[in-house]
Order: sequence, then C-alpha cells, then structure tokens
Amino acid sequence: DLQRSAELISLTERSTAHNYHPLPVVISEGDGSWVTDVDGRRYLDCLAAYSAVNFGHRHPRIVDAVRAQLERVTLTSRAFHHDVLGPFARELADLAGKDLVLPMNTGAEAVETALKVARKWGYEVKGVPEDQATIVVMDGNFHGRTISIVSFSTDPVARTNFGPFTPGFRVVEYGNPPALADAIDDTTVAVLIEPIQGEAGVVVPPAGYLSQVRQLCDARQMLFIADEIQSGLGRTGTTFACEHEDVVPDLYILGKALGGGIVPVSAVIGDADVLGVIHPGEHGSTFGGNPLACAAGRAVVDMLTTGDWQRTATELGQHLFEGLGRLADKGMIDVRGRGLWAGIDIDPDLMTGRAACEALLAEGILAKDTHGSTIRLAPPLVITPEEIDMVIDALSRVLTAK
Ligand code: PLP
Repeated sequence: DLQRSAELISLTERSTAHNYHPLPVVISEGDGSWVTDVDGRRYLDCLAAYSAVNFGHRHPRIVDAVRAQLERVTLTSRAFHHDVLGPFARELADLAGKDLVLPMNTGAEAVETALKVARKWGYEVKGVPEDQATIVVMDGNFHGRTISIVSFSTDPVARTNFGPFTPGFRVVEYGNPPALADAIDDTTVAVLIEPIQGEAGVVVPPAGYLSQVRQLCDARQMLFIADEIQSGLGRTGTTFACEHEDVVPDLYILGKALGGGIVPVSAVIGDADVLGVIHPGEHGSTFGGNPLACAAGRAVVDMLTTGDWQRTATELGQHLFEGLGRLADKGMIDVRGRGLWAGIDIDPDLMTGRAACEALLAEGILAKDTHGSTIRLAPPLVITPEEIDMVIDALSRVLTAK
C-alpha cells in the first residue's frame, strides 16, 4: 500500500542525514535485473548500484560463496592469517596481470591507499624531496568523498565548506595531453585518472588519450593510477576500461562490483616495485581483506576469467546503443558510453535529468540523473535484449510526453 511506502520514506527522511535525494521508491527485494518495492511493484534496475551490482542482484554463485563462508569464519582482522585472503589476492592479481593486491573495503579507501602508495613511492623510489610530492588529477573527476579526495574535486557542491584541503594535487583538463604535460614537474609522482569518467556523465576520453598519458608517465617517471572502481570488472566490455587502448596502468583501483553487490570490497593492485613500498604498520584496515569479502571477491574474479561477462556487456551494449540511436531526434543532445554503460544528455529545455528519472520510475525503470540534465544507464549485465527494448520504449515515451 502507498501508505507503507510514504511512511518508510518519511521515517528515513526524519532519521538520516540528508546527504542523498533518492527517487521515491522503497525497494524490499532484488533478483537479477529486477527489484520489487514494498508495494509489490517491480522495476528494471538500470543503475545497478552505480555498477556495484554488475552481475545482477543476488547472483547465485556469489550468494553461494558468501553463504558458505558465513558458515566458517567472517572476520579475523589482519593480525592473523586466514585461508581465503591468499587465494583471493593471487587470483585477483593474476586477473590484472600484476604481482600484488592491497585489500580495502570502499572505493574512497582504495583511492586514498593508492595516493599514499604513490607518495611513498615518489619519496623512496623516485627520490622526490620530503613533503614535495604532487599528484595530477583530472577536471570533472569523481574518486570519493574523503577530505583528501574532495580536496581535488572540481565540483563545488562536493567541496564547499569542507576545507582546509589537502595540498599536493594539480587539476588538468581531462582528455588534453598538452595540459597534462604542462602540469608535470620533477615533484610529480602520479597521474590519477578514470579511464571513463562515470559520475561526470560517462565521459569517454578522445581516442589515444590514455596511451598518451601512459607515454608521459613512462617518460617522466610517474605512476599511472587507473581508478576502475566504476569502469572495471566487465561494465565496458573488457575486464578493465584501460584495455580499450591497450594501456596497462601501474596501479589499478577496484571496488564496487568486486564485492558482487553483497559486501564492500575494494583493492589496489600493482607490481612489487610499487606496492612493495608499504611495510607492516604503515597502512591497514580492520575489515580490509576479511574472509567474507574475499569469498565474494573470489567468486567475482572467477566469473570474469572466462571473458563471457565481458562479451555479454559488449553485445548488450551494441543493442542498447542501437536503441538509443533510434531516439536521436527525441530531445537527446548527446549519447556517450562504452559497453553496457551510457550517459545521455537531455535537452535541458525539455526536462531535467531528475524529471526524466521520475518519469522513468513511473514507467517501472530505475535510473539516476547526474549533473542537471544527464541520465546514465548501467543495468546489470544479466539484463536481456528484450528488457533493453523495454527501457528504450519507456525512454521514448518519457522524452515525447509533454
Ligand atoms: N571512484 C570512482 C570512479 C567512483 O565511481 C566511485 C563511486 O561512485 C568512487 C571512487 C568511490 O567509491 P565509494 O563510494 O565506494 O567510496
């Protein structure tokens, strides 16, 4: 009953800080690409928890792995060894073609970890003078919400009144190699980059950009840090979005889908000459690398080793973009993306992204706006072509309704 929904929304609003503005739907169940609200209405999930639910809600293989681990041991802390971390780390490092994994929990923590590693590497390997290290980041970036991370955000909403900020970061235009070259000097230890900018609206850099960044990093002895928290693990049709340009970063940052949508699992992955700068006591996390997280992560890594999920994302993505192409004259200003991941700019004169998402909600489709008039579509990779057609039809009705 609608009463129940309204009551739960009101309870939540009265009881939580208002750091989000959710669409007015109260989900109580999820299965594959679908969720059900407290009133029994079903919705096709086209956000997939910002790509944390890439494999669908409660994927049986991941659920089974987590359930089996629940029966054994869930948390030991890193004060002791446990029997799942070694296998998980080895399998994840192999998936990425690297030596070592540093496990954390959330995306922001893994980004902080990579920044700490880069600074320490800069002092101890590159030889940057004490406290002088700089890290170059991109305009329009989104890497999380901690103070150091918002210190280099270019979104005023993310920064205002959260200062004083952490020094040591330089912001350059995304997709512009000369701007990056200009910002570099002998103190620069790393470039932190999203190979596709998710929160900015699924912004794909110009062809060749990532490899030019890689060349600059090699020439100037800087680490290429790829934040693949949202772009990685199948979403774009490859395990890592960097693969589209055959670029191999020095550090991968993963999160979101690594926990299978069940537990928070993040990681920094790199070779021993970089991650080896971290010694006991210098960094850590009570929950990082816990047995339950490792069990979920192992299932996810195992699922990605055959390439089937990546191929599926490519094929479904073609279907999605063909469908979006048919809506070209219906008030969409731009459509971008890769694999099963689309950012759609709606003509702001037509409606806001929020209004479009509210109208999609009424059509039984869950999607999320970003930056005013952009909506993003990132359904679970278990969505079917027919369900994608439902999304396209609903979007068509929403865009043409007056
Ligand atoms: N980095 C990227 C590219 C992201 O998209 C996100 C989350 O949206 C984060 C980092 C932060 O992850 P978390 O919300 O788990 O801290």
